[in-house]
Amino acid sequence: MVYECSSPTERRWFNMRVLRISSVVPVKAVISHEDVTPLKNIEERLRELSELDGLTGIANRRVFETTLEREWLRLARAKSSLSLLMLDIDCFKMLNDTYGHLEGDACIRAVATVMGSVFKRPADLAARFGGEEFVVLLPETEIDQAISLAETLRIRVSELQIPNKNSLVSNTMTVSIGCACISPSSEIKPNELIDLADKALYQAKREGRNRVCRSNIQELGVIDT
Ligand code: GH3
Ligand code: MG
Ligand code: MG
Repeated sequence: MVYECSSPTERRWFNMRVLRISSVVPVKAVISHEDVTPLKNIEERLRELSELDGLTGIANRRVFETTLEREWLRLARAKSSLSLLMLDIDCFKMLNDTYGHLEGDACIRAVATVMGSVFKRPADLAARFGGEEFVVLLPETEIDQAISLAETLRIRVSELQIPNKNSLVSNTMTVSIGCACISPSSEIKPNELIDLADKALYQAKREGRNRVCRSNIQELGVIDT
């Protein structure tokens, strides 16, 4: 049995083994406690490497995809709704070209930090989708609530006042966000939620960037109730 027994300064784990050495009464056994902290630390590091995005430290795309599959099944049973936000930094190529790739990396990290401060419910999952794109999965959240959170996120990012002087929309960094909401069911595939949020994001880009747009669920052929 592996158990945690931390000292005031360090997290530690031990493996307790019980070996019976005599079966006659009174039964005798040897009990050993082996310090397995180095092994546990390696395990933890491997988990981080496989689940967390290296640049931002938030969940990576794989975690997002497995969480989406799991929540889809759970919410189909619960007949509840699932919202998805898809965020893309506006004119990020300009930001990279103007201030350099390292500054660009710092901006991606800054957006991830803001996301962590906006989405606090344990069930919410913010992840880096790739490049300068992020997703947020919001279980049991209706579209109006998702839009309001997306708007908060958009404003918080703009309040960072990170310079992007050659951007087409503002002289500071802005983001566009697409929102979609579905009541999961076995007839619809989880990827359709991604597709809807993606379309809404591109609508936000088309309409001028630095804004939040919602998907039109009719695109799925599902009645919006
Ligand atoms: P739009 O407003 O339409 O989204 O324009 P954009 O310039 O943001 O879009 P585009 O997709 O052309 O540019 C994204 C850029 O993001 C291009 C790529 O070099 C940069 N990028 C992708 N991943 C990273 C990264 O990890 N770090 C940095 N610094 N840049 C990245
Ligand atoms: Mg992009
Ligand atoms: Mg972009």
